[in-house]
Amino acid sequence: TETAIFQQVDEFAEGKLIGNDPALSYALKNSAKNGLPPISVSATQGKFLMMQAKLIGAKRILEVGTLGGYSSIWLARSLPADGKLISCEFNPAFADVARDNIRNANVSAQVDIRTGPALDTIVTLDDNFDFVFIDADKNNSPVYLTEAIKRTRKGAIIVVDNTVQNAQRFLDPTEDSPNVIGNRQVYDLLQKHEAAGDLIATHQQCATGKGSDAFVYAIRT
Ligand code: SAM
Repeated sequence: TETAIFQQVDEFAEGKLIGNDPALSYALKNSAKNGLPPISVSATQGKFLMMQAKLIGAKRILEVGTLGGYSSIWLARSLPADGKLISCEFNPAFADVARDNIRNANVSAQVDIRTGPALDTIVTLDDNFDFVFIDADKNNSPVYLTEAIKRTRKGAIIVVDNTVQNAQRFLDPTEDSPNVIGNRQVYDLLQKHEAAGDLIATHQQCATGKGSDAFVYAIRT
């Protein structure tokens, strides 16, 4: 299938660009062993996030949706010793697995996992984040994006993952599932906030071994 080909291309690129990374391998294996769904970002996507955070010298990162901490490990690797990643996870069992994976990756000092509904955590946070990665319940992506805009400094980066998911359903005007509605609202918000001068935003479609999807990339202005 097409997806299997994309998987092979990713494996080729991972062989060249990532190679053997025991902390990441442990995180994936330990997550699978504990029954977490295999829905983390790909290795090259994780590396992309790390590079973006590094590029702007991020010291304060907010992640919405920890799962087993795979993307958290990548993001934490961008941080200086005194940097901090706050990652929000609804499921306490997932958070426990993530803490184990994060400890194994030697980034515990920089990562603070907060369990519970992400919004309950986010509203308690200050407004000086350098980087926000939104990757949780897609129906609430517009809510998280709105909060991220309020809680980031000028020049910060905001990434929202899985903003299309199934392309046919995303485009179908009769489709009204909460995730599709949420994702469409993300684009409405980007349009509105770019017009208001709060953001410069784009998106990228991507084909991976997990199918085709897109992510949104925005700079706070
Ligand atoms: N960012 C992770 C990675 O790439 O390794 C993957 C995150 S996974 C796609 C989405 C996560 O969001 C799941 O672990 C799920 O339990 C969590 N989640 C769903 N609804 C949530 C909510 N309201 N608050 C916090 N986390 C939530």
